[in-house]
Amino acid sequence: MLVDALASGLVRPALDWLPFGHLAGDPHDIAGGLLIALSQLAIITFVFRPLESLMPAERWSDRRLTTVDRNLTLLMVLLLNPLFAFIMLTPVATLLGDGATAAASTDTGTGGLLGLVPGIDQHPWLAVGIYYVIYDLIYYWMHRAQHVIPWWWAMHSMHHSQRQMSCWSNDRSCLLDGFLQSLIIAGLGLVLGVDATQFALVGLLSELVQNFSHANVQLGFGRVFGRLFVDPRFHRLHHMPVDAARPGLHNCNFGQVLSVWDNLFGTALYGEPTRPTGVGDPVVDADNGLGVIAMQWAALKRFWGAVRCAEGWKIQEVAFEPGTYRPYRVKREGAEPEAATLP
Ligand SMILES: [Zn+2]
Ligand SMILES: [Zn+2]
Repeated sequence: MLVDALASGLVRPALDWLPFGHLAGDPHDIAGGLLIALSQLAIITFVFRPLESLMPAERWSDRRLTTVDRNLTLLMVLLLNPLFAFIMLTPVATLLGDGATAAASTDTGTGGLLGLVPGIDQHPWLAVGIYYVIYDLIYYWMHRAQHVIPWWWAMHSMHHSQRQMSCWSNDRSCLLDGFLQSLIIAGLGLVLGVDATQFALVGLLSELVQNFSHANVQLGFGRVFGRLFVDPRFHRLHHMPVDAARPGLHNCNFGQVLSVWDNLFGTALYGEPTRPTGVGDPVVDADNGLGVIAMQWAALKRFWGAVRCAEGWKIQEVAFEPGTYRPYRVKREGAEPEAATLP
C-alpha cells in the first residue's frame, strides 16, 4: 500500500536521520498523516484553483493579498497540525486512559458515549456520521460566540480581514484560536469515542469542504442541497463587511459544513448578490498587507487588549481602538440579525 511504501521508503529513513526521530511515534501513522496533508494540497491546487480561474465570484487585478493565506495553509498543513497532533493529542489520549485510547485503536471505535447507542458497533461509519453532526452543531454555536465575545472576535476577525477570499483562506486563522478549537474537536472525539483513522479521514473531508466554501467561485448547491450543505456562495455572504444600510445583514451563515443549523436557528441568508469580503474596522483591516507572522502578532495584540478589560467579556459587537486595542461597542440601529431569507 501507498502508506507502507511511504513509511518504509521516506518516513523511517528520515526519523533515523533526525536526532530525536525515535520519539516521533509509528512511521505508519506519520506516513498516513503526510498522505492526507498532500492529498488536501493536491486537491486545492489541481481542482479548486482551476475552478477559481474558470468561474470567479469576483475578479482581482492581482492575487497578492491571497499569498499570505497560501503560505499560512502550507505552514499549518505540513508543519503545525502534525506537530500539534504529536505534542498535544497523543499525551491527552494516553492520559485519558483505556476508554479513549481503546476507542481510538479498535476497529469499531465505540468505547466512548457513542458505544451506548445500541448496535452502533456494527456500523462504525454511522458512529463517525453522528459524531460529525454533533461536532458541526457545536461548531455552529462556537462560531456565533466567536463573533459576539470580543476577546474571541479579536482573534477570529483575522479570518475575516481578508479582502480577497480564496480557497486558501480557510486556514487563515489565529493560532491561539485554532488551538482552542482543536481542543474542542479532539475532546469531543475522545468523549464520544471515534476511531482514529476514520476521524482523520472525516477531518480531511471537512477541511476540503471548507477550502471549497472559501473558494472565489460563483457556485451554489441549489435550493435543496444548499439548505443542507454550505456552498461557496453561502459562506462568501458570511464574510461580507457591515452594510450601513442593512446593519444586521452580515450576522448570517455561521455553519461550517452543514447549513442546516443556520436554517434552523434563523441565521441563513440566501439570494443576495455577491458582495465584497472583509471588515469595516480599520484596525482589523490593517491585517491586509501583513505577512504570516506579523498578522498573527496583530491578532494576539487585539486579543490581549480585549481579554484584560470588562468590555472584552461582554456579549456585543465591537471595534478596536488603535494603539491600545481595547474593544468598544459598535452601536448600530437595527443591528439584530435579519430573519432568514428564502433562496
Ligand atoms: Zn466568522
Ligand atoms: Zn470563513
